[in-house]
Amino acid sequence: MAGDGELHKAAYCERREGRAVRCALCPHHCRIAEGGSGACGVRKNAGGELYALSYGRVAAAALDPVEKKPLYHFFPGRPIFSLGGWGCNLKCSYCQNCSLSQFEAPTRPLSPEEAGRAGMEHGSIGVAYTYNEPTVAYEYVGDCCRQVRRRGGKNVLVTNGFIDAGPLDAILPLVDAMNIDVKAFNEDFYHRLCRGALAPVLETVRRAAGKTHLELTTLIIPGENDAIPEMEDLAKWIVDACGPAVPCHLTAYFPSYQMRRAATTAAHLAHARDIFMDYLPYVYAGNVQVPGGGDTRCVQCGSVVVARRAFNADLSGMNPDGSCKNCGADNNIVTA
Ligand code: SF4
Ligand code: SF4
Repeated sequence: MAGDGELHKAAYCERREGRAVRCALCPHHCRIAEGGSGACGVRKNAGGELYALSYGRVAAAALDPVEKKPLYHFFPGRPIFSLGGWGCNLKCSYCQNCSLSQFEAPTRPLSPEEAGRAGMEHGSIGVAYTYNEPTVAYEYVGDCCRQVRRRGGKNVLVTNGFIDAGPLDAILPLVDAMNIDVKAFNEDFYHRLCRGALAPVLETVRRAAGKTHLELTTLIIPGENDAIPEMEDLAKWIVDACGPAVPCHLTAYFPSYQMRRAATTAAHLAHARDIFMDYLPYVYAGNVQVPGGGDTRCVQCGSVVVARRAFNADLSGMNPDGSCKNCGADNNIVTA
């Protein structure tokens, strides 16, 4: 039904008095009057029924290196068909994809079947749901995931993690890997800069850990989320919630959307990475060049297992099963 002009009913709709509805997909729990839309902009009440406006519509699609998601421990060096629509349930003032997340972007139809087929072409390992926030297109993403799975492909969710536990648990069995943003380790940041909340995101990370391959991303914004105690507390929380083997991506902020603070320098990001690496062995620097900041080093012998320059991965230090070629240690790299 993609692109045929019909509206697709949304899941997690609760009826309220009159023709109002409540959406129970994400922690906003929007109460939506007839004719209105939720905070994400893509779930609309028409006639007392909730509809997923972006079902079957994509605003961006490309064959990307999986490293670009970023995922560094999931089929390194392989491409993945990546798609995104528009809309987001957060409003980050520094959003680096605001043309898709905060505005209605031009779209084209792409059915789940077509997405599933594209996910198996040109060497792609499957489909990544990314660019904007994929969970607000929950029904479409779920249907695409089923099509990808039928064809033997992998599903990757790149998400802000701001989703209720019920819908998350329902879709997790279809998801092979996730990259979840943990934007900061303080509630004030989420309230002030994202119009969201930290606690539900941490709950998402806890629920996903152990059920799917998991990597985390934190965009480092100087003066906002980079206090040393805060970064140490976040790193310790990650070890407690996910274990130390979870790969963490620290990426450099640059001025975008409504935020005009100075960009994060490579030296600043390298310092943040050093702090995280006191607790976690796989910490990567992204968006700026930090020497060695993209390489995977063996947790046991220290040799380079995967060397990276931009999004190119040199796998010469890795066995086909992902283990270290030098010592055979497991470095939590998925290759099959
Ligand atoms: S998914 Fe959208 S409509 Fe539903 S509760 Fe979240 S922001 Fe509101
Ligand atoms: S969650 Fe991501 S896509 Fe949504 S506004 Fe924030 S940075 Fe942008």
